[in-house]
Amino acid sequence: MAVAFVADAMLGRLAKWMRFLGCDVLYFRDIDDRELVRIARAEGRVLLTRDRRLPEDFSVECRLIDSENLDEQLMEVLSEFPLPGNASRRCMRCNVSLEPVEKQEVKELVPEYVYMHHDLFQRCPMCNSIYWEGSHIRNILKKIAMVHHGISELKKPG
Ligand SMILES: [Zn+2]
Repeated sequence: MAVAFVADAMLGRLAKWMRFLGCDVLYFRDIDDRELVRIARAEGRVLLTRDRRLPEDFSVECRLIDSENLDEQLMEVLSEFPLPGNASRRCMRCNVSLEPVEKQEVKELVPEYVYMHHDLFQRCPMCNSIYWEGSHIRNILKKIAMVHHGISELKKPG
C-alpha cells in the first residue's frame, strides 16, 4: 500500500504537485491543527507540516518540511517516501486518479501549443480538467530519479 498524506494549510502547492505525481494527499485551506491531527490518525496518513511545534504538541506521524522551495519540498518528501512505480497521476484539485483521454478529444480544450507538442493527455473524472506532462514535472522527476540512484545534489549552504 502506498503511503497517504495530509498536508497542513501552508503546503498547498506541495500538496497539488504531489497529487500530480501520484500521491494521495488531503489538503484543506482552512483547518486547525487538532482537526489535521485527527484526520492523520483516523486515516493513517503522514502529516506534512512546516510547523515545528506540531509533532511536539501531538503524538502523530509527521514529516517536517524545511524548505520553502517547491522542488526541494518534493525532494524532501519523496526521498523518504518513494513514489510507487505504478502510481497514477491524480487531479491537483480533486485528489482523484486521472483517466487517459484520446488526443482528438482535447483539441478544443487545451492551448494550441500544448496540443501540438504533446500526445498523452489525461482527464479528471470529477472536474474534467485536462492534464499533460509539462517540462516542470519532467525536471522534478529527473531530480527524484537522481536521488533514488544516490547521486543527490549537494545542498547549497545557507
Ligand atoms: Zn479534478
